[in-house]
Amino acid sequence: MSQRRALVTGAGGFIGHHLVTYLKSEGHWVRGVDLKRPEYNPTDADEFEVIDLRRWDNCLQATRGIDDVYALAADMGGMGFISTNHAPILHNNALINFHTIEAARLNGVQRYLYTSSACIYPDYRQREANVTALKEEDAYPAQPEDAYGWEKLITERLCMHYRKDYGLETRVVRFHNIFGPLGTWTGGREKAPAALCRKVAIAKLTHKHEIEIWGDGEQTRSFCYIDDCVRGIHRLMDSGYGEPLNLGQDRLITVNELADVVARIAGISLAKKHVPGPQGVRGRNSDNTRLREVLGWEPEISLEEGLTRTYEWIEKQVRSMLTSGQVLTNVIPGATYPAPSGAASPTVTPARRT
Ligand code: NAD
Repeated sequence: MSQRRALVTGAGGFIGHHLVTYLKSEGHWVRGVDLKRPEYNPTDADEFEVIDLRRWDNCLQATRGIDDVYALAADMGGMGFISTNHAPILHNNALINFHTIEAARLNGVQRYLYTSSACIYPDYRQREANVTALKEEDAYPAQPEDAYGWEKLITERLCMHYRKDYGLETRVVRFHNIFGPLGTWTGGREKAPAALCRKVAIAKLTHKHEIEIWGDGEQTRSFCYIDDCVRGIHRLMDSGYGEPLNLGQDRLITVNELADVVARIAGISLAKKHVPGPQGVRGRNSDNTRLREVLGWEPEISLEEGLTRTYEWIEKQVRSMLTSGQVLTNVIPGATYPAPSGAASPTVTPARRT
């Protein structure tokens, strides 16, 4: 496809930052927006604006002159964060998503891709570790576990209605545990692969070969490497497919096994101490039948290969913090989020709201 003018929201975050790089490598013009700039590497975006998308006026500003929106901005984190921050997550993400899509419509955006999550799937289908992989239609009757999942589901429906009522070309992707370098690895918002890499790296570098695992470690998930994720997003945008689509790997693995893979990569043997902590659903896997049908493709990078690249990057971060004398702990959730400056509700009324 010829060059597009793309907006990536959440471009200072993990997936958004990688997506900007990928879209640039595909020849597109890219504007990134976020509350913060990327933490670890400079952005490749043509323009980057530090703005709060809970504010309506900022959403209008962000979507001006854009063909394609990739909507990734979200107040989110791993299980420790999303199981203890229901009210702010629902409030912040609803504001971000409702304002961004409406602003996109008013500014004449053609295509709008929303990043949903496997967290929308009902709790009652995920009670066994040896779980049946989730098909897209399993989302209903709805019963997500957390406010994070409910908000994602409502925004999926918002996209569907904007497509049907206004003709906005929407896409909805449901990610299943994306991981890789340049993602949050400490501070309370990190997810299991990054947290395990950090714990193993600290164990290795401090010669204390024991790590803590939340719960019995027999909960299962599948994990998808970031390079596959951004390729899948781009393919979905170009596909013309408007219904929700899983994007993940379909290899089920327990958290204990995941820790073993990381320890092997680090070259150490490890004792695991199981401690109480949030675990989320008991088992979750992606059924990729529709992904293969729609995109003629599925994620290709193995867990071992992806984790090797991720572990090497996180070990480097841990090493530089330890050598600079900083104390690293397994931080408890409680990550901060800025209060909006000024009103979070509309402050600019567009000329016509139909
Ligand atoms: P991330 O936390 O690294 O990135 C999200 C970005 O959104 C952050 O940089 C954050 O600062 C920004 N943001 C938050 N509030 C904002 C606001 N009010 N205005 C502007 N920017 C704001 O998360 P990620 O892993 O890159 O996730 C990207 C998207 O994919 C999110 O919508 C997330 O819910 C979804 N998702 C991710 C995963 C995963 O495994 N990483 C799984 C399922 C769904």
